[in-house]
Amino acid sequence: MSPRGAFYTVLHLAILANPVATYAQGVDELRVVEADPAEWLTYGRDYAETHYSPLNQIDENNVNRLGIAWTWDIPVTGARLEAVPVVVDGVMYATGPHSFVFALDARTGERLWHWDPAIPDESEGGPSICCGDVNRGVAVWGDKVYVGILDGRLVALNRETGMIEWTVQTTPPGTDYSITGAPRVVAGNIIIGNSGAEYGVRGYITAYDAETGEQAWRWYTVPGNPADGFENEAMRRAAETWTGEWWIVGGGGTVWDGMAYDPNLDLLYIGTGNGAPWNRDERSPGGGDNLFLSSIVALRGETGEYVWHYQTTPGDDWDYTAVQPLMLLDLVMDGRQRAVIVQAPKNGFFYVIDRITGEFLSGQAYADNVNWASEIDQETGRPNETPEARYGMTGRGVYLSPGPTGAHNWRPMSWNPATGYVYLPAQNNTFYYERAAVDYQPGQWNTGTGRGSAATRPERPELEGPNTMLLAWDPVTNSEMWRVPGEGGNGGTLSTGGNLVFRGTGRLLTAHNAETGEEVWRAQVGIGTASPVTYEIDGSQYLTIMAGSGGANPPRVWTFTLDGETLN
Ligand code: CA
Repeated sequence: MSPRGAFYTVLHLAILANPVATYAQGVDELRVVEADPAEWLTYGRDYAETHYSPLNQIDENNVNRLGIAWTWDIPVTGARLEAVPVVVDGVMYATGPHSFVFALDARTGERLWHWDPAIPDESEGGPSICCGDVNRGVAVWGDKVYVGILDGRLVALNRETGMIEWTVQTTPPGTDYSITGAPRVVAGNIIIGNSGAEYGVRGYITAYDAETGEQAWRWYTVPGNPADGFENEAMRRAAETWTGEWWIVGGGGTVWDGMAYDPNLDLLYIGTGNGAPWNRDERSPGGGDNLFLSSIVALRGETGEYVWHYQTTPGDDWDYTAVQPLMLLDLVMDGRQRAVIVQAPKNGFFYVIDRITGEFLSGQAYADNVNWASEIDQETGRPNETPEARYGMTGRGVYLSPGPTGAHNWRPMSWNPATGYVYLPAQNNTFYYERAAVDYQPGQWNTGTGRGSAATRPERPELEGPNTMLLAWDPVTNSEMWRVPGEGGNGGTLSTGGNLVFRGTGRLLTAHNAETGEEVWRAQVGIGTASPVTYEIDGSQYLTIMAGSGGANPPRVWTFTLDGETLN
């Protein structure tokens, strides 16, 4: 299906559904499908979540003329920045630490409004936050800005004023759920997941009416206590893959990051998280795949009904979430046009899945040192696990790669249709896993793993390859085309029609020739880079990234343009 075909199909549906839809009414489905390159309307810029912009004013020949257009200091510190700014009608909407939301004039950086939910710290009665006081950004739809915040609320703000339009508590108050992910908008509903599997929660995703906040549907990712009855057939089926009393710790499977949507198929794709606790022998004694942990799941966008799933890590034992960014691509594979979904989840393998049927097409290691599985069986799509990987079953602790931070985490990958490459911010790491009994304590990590002691742990293995790296990955052959080592922790990536890929790395924003990987520009922006975006106003292309955390490394929005102020 061509993008043009997709556009007209949705145009038709949009006219039927809403005969008076116009741009003046705000962001709507037509506008998101059309995805004017001058804007960055959604988290991934388009429903397919490609993080690709066709803008080409800045290209590999003139990128060295980039200078600062403006900067804005985020007045809240204390956690890393992870948001992808959204740029609509000349306004940039983004988030900082502690669920702080702000709107800036995208041309000047002038603050238009901000909203600080002033959520207290955990020590002062605030929500318990399992895994970082971060936020990945907002969704804009109609005349509102939507944000999921740490205490589990989904909040709709007026786009012009930042005033609260409605609020809904999406998680049971006082529990171990939190929200860090960016909402998405599907079929007029705001889609939001949550976090907390390290503490022990049951994952789910919910859709709320964009206008009213009324709940449209909810889909749990793992079954609850069978004695309470199953919410749907998918949960009944999933329960057959679990044993013991998994519901006590919750099971896990939180949906805290990656999503994508295909409006032609009306399929919403979500990635699900790790098991709670991590250790399967504590969670589901005797084994089992434990559906739908660590899976890519396709749901009907309108209703949230289960359609298909592909489980990247059956019977997860290692915190190998499949919540990492999801991307929809149309590829020619073996001479055949395929509508696929791709993902590089924590477990170190890059997957290409038919997004209509869920059929496994290929899976290959993208990180160095992967040793929990030797390969993905290309017929069955299941990993061939190495015998030592199941530390609970062997009773022996083991260093495995990747570790719980994953070979790829929240950082957006990007696509360039001209090169045919996915640009993936990957990392190499290892972690010692050892079985420990779970004595479930709310508000604490309940992973069922221990660190052992220096006397009993084997020697930490030497790792090959750089700690962090930018990979150019060909999803058709499922292989690496080039790599550039990182210069510190990864940020996200952006691809553009200027034959460029931008990435955050360490304290830098760097630009690379998209075909060769050659670095063609760099700027110091501060340690802890979020993810870059680009947009155009009055004929000038801009490039924005947020970076920094506090002190001498202030959290700041950096915006660049050709012939801007000279860099230090
Ligand atoms: Ca986790």
